[in-house]
Parts: sequence; structure tokens; C-alpha cells
Amino acid sequence: MAQIIDGKALAAQVLARTAADVAEMVAAGAPAPGLAVILVGNDPASEVYVGRKIAQCRKAGISSIEHRLPADTPEGDVLALIDTLNADAGVHGILVQLPLPKHIDAALVLDRIDPGKDVDGFHPVNVGRLSTGTGGLVPCTPLGVMLLLDSVIEDYRGLNVVVIGKSNIVGKPVSMLLLEREATVTVTHIETRDLPDVARKADVIVAAAGAPHLVRGYWVKPGAVVIDVGISRVTDFDGKTRIVGDCATHELDHAKAVTPVPGGVGPMTIACLLSNTVLAAKRSAVA
Ligand code: NAD
Repeated sequence: MAQIIDGKALAAQVLARTAADVAEMVAAGAPAPGLAVILVGNDPASEVYVGRKIAQCRKAGISSIEHRLPADTPEGDVLALIDTLNADAGVHGILVQLPLPKHIDAALVLDRIDPGKDVDGFHPVNVGRLSTGTGGLVPCTPLGVMLLLDSVIEDYRGLNVVVIGKSNIVGKPVSMLLLEREATVTVTHIETRDLPDVARKADVIVAAAGAPHLVRGYWVKPGAVVIDVGISRVTDFDGKTRIVGDCATHELDHAKAVTPVPGGVGPMTIACLLSNTVLAAKRSAVA
């Protein structure tokens, strides 16, 4: 049987470490780290995500400031709010919940965030720092993927890693982090030819396609490690919906280790958002 990597347990460790860091900072006289969350509109999934992030902040002692704006908020108002938050010394992290309504240019909004407060790691400065291996804030999901991998892999040098998906949020940044560890990384996507053959050569597969059960048992070589980032809602024959990942996990007994969905990458993403906020606060204190 493949080892199931417990993302919930690992995320609880990251959260406990983060809470301890916050307590230490506050005990030393620093203000509690502050995370500003901007939610434009009332997309139900976004509301759930924001609610979870804020609840976890509270548990860790991070002060979270929620800015809920109506769906028809002009782009200029969102930019002006970001300018205010950039200038606010009590705000160490700024998160804009995506997707934004169609009339708002998401790239323009994300580019406006002070890179030092960009806890999602999407600002071009942080993307550049990641690709040159020069620090910066790293996107939360790829950071979580690396912590999950670190729990089962000590040395990445020379390992063949196949990343499925090339998004700016997951596929590309996780590839950069793996290259930094001297893995041999193949980034694949919807147009990749013979993907099962490519995947079968991998020591590690990171699946971030959003394609339910794309990665079948015969795609995975015995002893490989499989990280399943995908989250898709599917409807069963009885009309019930459930969340599934990109991997047919029930076919992966021959793998060394796999992450479950739910309970794998998802919890790590929020935990890493909090640890990024604390990192941003620490860096602002020494800046
Ligand atoms: P995206 O749609 O931006 O990118 C998907 C990528 O996968 C693209 O590069 C596309 O070419 C590739 N792809 C799609 N179908 C494919 C197929 N059949 N074969 C090969 N490649 C294929 O998606 P994203 O934002 O990177 O998210 C990917 C998945 O990860 C989604 O299910 C998303 O919900 C999930 N996700 C989870 C978390 C988390 O915290 N667990 C965070 C971010 C994204």
C-alpha cells in the first residue's frame, strides 16, 4: 500500500509553528502580524475560502482585516484600497481573493500590491525572485506541495519530476521550487503528447490540472511519489456531489506515497498563507 501523506496533520504542525512565532513576536513587543483580505462580490466559493482563512488567522493570533466590496465596485476603488493598505504599517500581508469580477483587471490589481506584502506571491517581483532563486514570497500552494514532498523525500538531486499543469498559481512556481532543489523537472500541460508515457518516467508527479482522475495507475511507476493538487466537484450516478482530485488514488497502491483529496494539499495552502504573513511581518520589522 502507498503511504498516505496526511496534509491535515502537516498543516496543523505549520499552524502551530506559526502561532508560536506570532506569540514570540508579540511577547517581544512587536504588533501582531496583520493580514488584509479583499473580497469583491459574493462568489459563494470565494466566501467560503475567505471565511476559512480568517478563522485560521484568528487561531494563530494574526489580526485579519476583511474588506468586502460589492460586485460592481469600480477597478479604481480596489486600486485605491490597495494603495491605502500598502501604506498601512499595521498591514503586513494583502490578499485579493480571486476570481475578481470581469470588469476588474486582476493582473493590474495584483501588480499594485507592495511585493513585500504580497503573501500570495503573485506579484511579478516575487515571480522573478522565485525564478532567480533570490528569496521573495512564494505562492502558498506550491510552498505547501514542497512541505508535503519534504515529508517523504530527503534529496531531490537528479530526481525526475513531472508537473502536470503550467498555471502561474501552481504548475510554474512548483517547477521553479523543484529546480532549485536540483530535480530534473518536466512541465506538461493539455497539449503535451503521450502524457502517460512522460508521467511513467517520473520519480515524482505533481498533478495540478483540474482534470478529475486524469492520472491513472498505469501512468505511475512503482515507488513514485504523487502529489494531487487538483480539486474538482463531480456528481455521482446517485446525484450526490463530491470533491475529487486529479489522480485515481485507488489505482496507486504501487506508489511510494500519495496525497489524498480532500486532506492533502488543500489544508497546506492556508497554513502557508499564514506562515507567509508572519514572514512578511518579520521582514518588515527589519526593513
Ligand atoms: P488552471 O486551469 O489555471 O491550469 C490547469 C493546467 O492544467 C493548464 O496548464 C492546463 O494546460 C493543464 N491541463 C488541464 N487539463 C489537462 C489534461 N487533461 N492533461 C494535461 N494537462 C491538463 O488551474 P490551476 O489554477 O493551476 O489549478 C489546477 C487544479 O488545482 C484545479 O483543480 C484547482 O482547483 C486546484 N488547486 C488547488 C489548490 C489547493 O489549495 N488544493 C490551490 C490551487 C489550485
